[in-house]
Amino acid sequence: METLFVGGLVFDGRNKPTPGMGVLIKADRVSKIEPAEQFADYQGHKIDTSGGTLMPGLIDCHVHLTLGGEADIASAQAKRSPGQIVMTGLRWAQQTLAGGITAVRDCGGKDYLEFAVRDACNSGEQLGPTVLAAGRMICMTGGHGSRVGRVADGTDEVIKGVREQIHAGSDFVKIMATGGVMTPGVNPMDAHYTAEEMAVGIAEAARFGKHTASHAMATKGILNAVRGGITSIEHGTFMDDECVEEMLKRGTFLVPTLAPMQGLMAHLDKVPLFVQNKFQMMEEVYAKALILYYQAGGKIAMGTDTGVPYATHGNNALELAYMADAGMTPLDVLKSSTSLAAELMGLSDEGHIAEGSRADFLVVDGNPAEDINMAARRENHRTIWKRGIEILAVEQAMEPIRAPQFAATAAF
Ligand SMILES: [Zn+2]
Repeated sequence: METLFVGGLVFDGRNKPTPGMGVLIKADRVSKIEPAEQFADYQGHKIDTSGGTLMPGLIDCHVHLTLGGEADIASAQAKRSPGQIVMTGLRWAQQTLAGGITAVRDCGGKDYLEFAVRDACNSGEQLGPTVLAAGRMICMTGGHGSRVGRVADGTDEVIKGVREQIHAGSDFVKIMATGGVMTPGVNPMDAHYTAEEMAVGIAEAARFGKHTASHAMATKGILNAVRGGITSIEHGTFMDDECVEEMLKRGTFLVPTLAPMQGLMAHLDKVPLFVQNKFQMMEEVYAKALILYYQAGGKIAMGTDTGVPYATHGNNALELAYMADAGMTPLDVLKSSTSLAAELMGLSDEGHIAEGSRADFLVVDGNPAEDINMAARRENHRTIWKRGIEILAVEQAMEPIRAPQFAATAAF
């Protein structure tokens, strides 16, 4: 089946939105992009984008499909059976797609259950975003993520841990460079893995063509990861000029994840005490890393950490507004959320609109390069297409039969 998108602006993922172009899709691909008048005789199915913008679907480089954004995520997850984790994960992936996000990178799951969600979505068996998944996070004894991650100490164990992920079917490898907020008893300022452990883990992943992401909040850990060759620094909260310099040299991506801090600011009294205590140290550096690296000209990819407390699936696009509020131009936010995010994830036919690319689209009101809220806020989304299928209609049809809140923790 063919559909023509015509009438409004087209943002191709890389350049300023342009008027006067028609984009024709055939099945799940873009088949032709030409000046609108070339389609004057077209009689087929048509989407009028007048007054709006056709753009690539958004890409979120940091989510957790096995976590539901509850105040106490660890307890909530523990109450779900493996079967429920898969079912809720699929539902959350679909909510994410309905929120305008056509691809996600799952940065650490539970017992590979998220692979079932990934495979269902990527095979087309279920409607969902494109999913890349890391499997279990590689972390040190007692370290950040150790409650669900693959604990590994010393270079031999780290190599073994990475090989396990690759054998299990991971699309990329996540290695924890520092402490974090959501694990009790660890300090975000501490470097966890040594430079050596980090480097061998990254090299082992690279040997099998897998890119790497590192949870890295403070300088020492960021430097260990960057110098070891990491593909993306997640959070980068306390980054300094030395980190920026090392990252620029290597073209390292930063995935800033501003959404969780927004959520915590609004609901601080609801989260576990150890999270509240650590929040104070983060508050004053909120968005510091993003600003530093952006001003230096570094590569930034959109990521939300959705799944952590009060960052809920389906609201991912709000991150675009937070990035713009921090000082990025709306056009740069759009690039970070489409073509740059696709580049980080290695998705060569997503995140941009060109002949032959995937028909993964978001159509929004107005011009998001002038007002980022057009892309960031769901009320301004007109329609979402995944692999050439209009998905918003399906979501809307489901709405009346759905419980007001998806029963993630049912009867406990
Ligand atoms: Zn995360």
